[in-house]
Amino acid sequence: MSKAKKKYYRKRVDFFRLLNKIKLWPSRSGVLHGIKSIEQKGPYAAITTHCGHDFLVLTSKNSRAARWLRNKWAYKACRSCRIPDWKLEKYSKTFFAQHYGSQLNDE
Ligand SMILES: [Zn+2]
Repeated sequence: MSKAKKKYYRKRVDFFRLLNKIKLWPSRSGVLHGIKSIEQKGPYAAITTHCGHDFLVLTSKNSRAARWLRNKWAYKACRSCRIPDWKLEKYSKTFFAQHYGSQLNDE
């Protein structure tokens, strides 16, 4: 049985903070990667995935990745990233709402 509790975030939550919390990255090809490290660089985030990719992304909450993460459009987990089941489980119990949930302001 699943132990993960439902977790709610605001839709408008700061995208960098959200990534830093969830540690998952949805690629354009629909694969969910595990974030090994993430560093803020102005309006960008430098992300390194567990499978060894480095890239800079714009941390806009209106970006493709932000929408994909909120809507859970990434349909498979990266094998090389070896995302643990508990993390995927936690993400599957994570929801985004307009007027309800954490804004991650004090973390
Ligand atoms: Zn990966």
